[in-house]
Amino acid sequence: MKKIAVLTSGGDAPGMNACIRAIVLTCERLKLKAYGYLHGYNGLLQQHYKKLEAKDMHNLIQRGGTVLHSARCLEFKTPEAAVVAAKNLNELEIDALIVIGGDGSFRGAHHLSQHWQGQVIGLPGTIDNDIYGTDATIGYYTAIETAVSSIDKVRDTADAFERIFLIEVMGRHAGFIALNAALASASDHVIVPELFETTEKALAAMLEELQYRRDNHGSVSYIIVIAENVWPGGLGALVSELEQRTGSEVRPVILGHVQRGGSPVPQDRILASKLGSHAIQAIIDGQTGVMIGECNGEPVAVPLEQTWAQQKPLEPFCVEAMSQLVNATTD
Ligand code: ATP
Repeated sequence: MKKIAVLTSGGDAPGMNACIRAIVLTCERLKLKAYGYLHGYNGLLQQHYKKLEAKDMHNLIQRGGTVLHSARCLEFKTPEAAVVAAKNLNELEIDALIVIGGDGSFRGAHHLSQHWQGQVIGLPGTIDNDIYGTDATIGYYTAIETAVSSIDKVRDTADAFERIFLIEVMGRHAGFIALNAALASASDHVIVPELFETTEKALAAMLEELQYRRDNHGSVSYIIVIAENVWPGGLGALVSELEQRTGSEVRPVILGHVQRGGSPVPQDRILASKLGSHAIQAIIDGQTGVMIGECNGEPVAVPLEQTWAQQKPLEPFCVEAMSQLVNATTD
């Protein structure tokens, strides 16, 4: 009988539990044993695990976070750590390890595969959606939902006082959450790393749009969505620039970790269930060193190294819609 282990690593994402559930239930159906390592790669190094059974998966699909806990583990980057992990996996007679996480976690999975003979499978679990080779990642849709509902609330108060708000969302190197949340909340401007050129260009665009609004629509609220870490000098620098140039008060809002929490929306639960279940099939088929993702509604197996070798581009269709809707106000 095959033994399968799973761990969650890196930034936690809503839907990780749904994915663990799918893995465990599929294992039970196929008479495979399932184990969960705790606290990401730390559990693998400390042989800290628990047996996972279908009866423990009840009422789990809707829960945010991860019952296996997640963590960063810098030590895992060393060859010595991978050797320890391989020894621990062999001691437990694990045949395959499934890593649910982001591209950093996949680098870890690839690193392990250089030192361990068992099968290694990655499943994309990160709110950032920045993994090449899959249309979406587990947790991404819930993060958009959280950002949009927060921006809607900010809009109410922004309208009441006719204020400028600057809302920072997560996505350190990728603008997926910012772009989609801005589009879905009818925000007035979006700043994402993929499209950012210079501070002067970005400021000029915002000031032109804002002036147009004030001249044509009266004094109105203005909401800018910005991905974290894009603006040189940080959010405070942009607040000061805008206040100086508009003569208006600018309020910053950092959404922060609320975007990582909450019950996963159905899209994330469905994606997590499909990927978790298909990962077991991939293991039975002998696959290893790949991420199981979804493209155009079909499961795909992408070599782990490809998932971080190139930057996943923003959806051009979405960029086009956003630019049309923002430009429409300045025509
Ligand atoms: P997210 O993007 O959502 O934060 P992530 O999986 O990219 O998720 P990281 O912090 O980049 O998060 O990586 C998670 C863990 O993966 C690290 O703490 C480390 O244990 C492991 N890891 C990352 N890079 C490597 C590497 N080059 N070699 C070995 N292990 C790595």
